[in-house]
Amino acid sequence: TYVIGLPCVDEKDLACVEECPVDCIYEGGRSLYINPDECIDCGACEPVCPVEAIYYEDDLPAPLGVYLADNERFFTEP
Ligand code: SF4
Repeated sequence: TYVIGLPCVDEKDLACVEECPVDCIYEGGRSLYINPDECIDCGACEPVCPVEAIYYEDDLPAPLGVYLADNERFFTEP
């Protein structure tokens, strides 16, 4: 799955939402989130992000690992 990291916080440009063919990018309080169960790994969202916040999960820089957990929390907590 693709993951949205730190640069999106308080940015929420929404360009990726337009691009996503399966509409799996959701808006949270301070960031956008990609639903890992719905993402088809097409990569369309990554190049359109103006702040380069989107990474394929295996390419996520280590300091941004916390965003994987944050993403999971967003989709699992009520
Ligand atoms: Fe949507 Fe494709 Fe980005 Fe996944 S990789 S969030 S399916 S645009």
